Amino acid sequence: MIGSGYVGLVTGACLADSGNEVVCVDIDKAKIDLLLAGGVPIFEPGLAEMIARNRANGLIDFTTDKRRGIEHGDVVFIAVPTPMSDSGAADLSHVYAAAEDIGTYMDRYKVVVDKSTVPVGTADEVRAIIRKKTRHDFDLVSNPEFLKQGKAVADFMQPDRVVVGSDSQRALDVMRELYEPFLRTFHPLIAIDIRSAEMAKYAANCFLATKISFINEISNLCEKAGADISAVREAIGADKRIGYEFLFPGIGYGGSCLPKDVQALLHTAETLGADMHLLSAVEQVNSEQKTALVSKMVDRFGSRSGAKRLEGLHVGLWGLSFKPQTDDVRAAPSLVVAQRLVELGARVRAYDPEATKQAKNVLGNSIEYAGNMYDAVEGADALVLLTEWKQFQRPALQHVKSAMRQHVVFDGRNIYDPDRLRADGFEYHGMGRLRGRTMEETE
Ligand code: NAD
Repeated sequence: MIGSGYVGLVTGACLADSGNEVVCVDIDKAKIDLLLAGGVPIFEPGLAEMIARNRANGLIDFTTDKRRGIEHGDVVFIAVPTPMSDSGAADLSHVYAAAEDIGTYMDRYKVVVDKSTVPVGTADEVRAIIRKKTRHDFDLVSNPEFLKQGKAVADFMQPDRVVVGSDSQRALDVMRELYEPFLRTFHPLIAIDIRSAEMAKYAANCFLATKISFINEISNLCEKAGADISAVREAIGADKRIGYEFLFPGIGYGGSCLPKDVQALLHTAETLGADMHLLSAVEQVNSEQKTALVSKMVDRFGSRSGAKRLEGLHVGLWGLSFKPQTDDVRAAPSLVVAQRLVELGARVRAYDPEATKQAKNVLGNSIEYAGNMYDAVEGADALVLLTEWKQFQRPALQHVKSAMRQHVVFDGRNIYDPDRLRADGFEYHGMGRLRGRTMEETE
């Protein structure tokens, strides 16, 4: 496994758990040292236990020694980052570096599996790079990863589907054997051509991004039209063609995948001379949505004009990770919200169960970090909920109330019952919900 991040570690641990001998390689020595010392560099439910179990069984090991990792594998996975470059295109330098290494240390036939998310045609490049370095036979497979951070282990163990792009029966047989333990309950392995597999990953993420921007746009319109997005979602989601999933209004999508994958596909389209009007709009809606909550706060509290419209406002932020159950803050909308609040003069004190350390790397001392959720709202004029961690869903409201200076709640994920909060003496602002009224009151 080349690359021991979210995808590499989860894939490596799950493959070890099904009896394979896995060596995870990384260029980050601190990460490997931590893993060798029994630590796990990321938070992902169930992962630490699985790694510990398989280390004890001798089925998983960690190294910075590329040669050792590559020579070890009959199957070599590429699970390195493909971040967004300045042009919006996927930066493939890590993938190409991994390909160079694989070619250099290739000692027998291997199946090389690209698990990183890469634009259509990358497999040809990777194959060419390896070919230049070795005379050994090898096959290249595209095996895009669809796991969700926060549920990554469960997703890998019971995937909706496994996609394998391959032009070799031999490699396909190896992949079937590898994934067979995870596909026992009729989850399909979808064997397709390599380019379609590469495209499928982008199409999937871009579709999910489209759903989010769609519901956010409808939600914003609900606010103007006097309708309630929760009721609208309930009504439309019952249609099986639409469904309820990924139709939650909020503060915009973020994370390590959706934003960069949308940009990368737009870039691919541009280089191929294709217009993607829909996807461009998805991206634009998302970028505006990240500050929609701040605009509500300015409407409510912005007493003055100019750059410091929220001067003197104390804000307690709950949640920094881009979604619950992860410590990942890459492209998290919460960072944009926090930065914008600071720019407007607000004093921000944040709490996140897992992501504080990562957020600190980005936000530094521009905000304060609280040791627990109640500490974050001490003396606050506004509580701003950004990530729907379970522990935020049913707070001790009296405790929150006595800690706060003013009792105004901005619920960026619509996790609270507006009636309940109002009954407890809070002023409630959600996303696309009937402002200041309950459903019953408007009938
Ligand atoms: P990550 O940043 O968490 O981990 C990547 C690791 O690769 C890092 O530890 C880095 O040090 C290491 N690395 C970089 N270059 C290397 C090299 N040449 N040799 C060895 N190690 C190297 O990234 P991630 O979130 O695991 O994502 C990896 C790929 O999987 C990306 O293409 C991403 O788009 C895709 N993906 C991610 C997710 C997700 O939820 N995170 C889901 C599906 C697909």
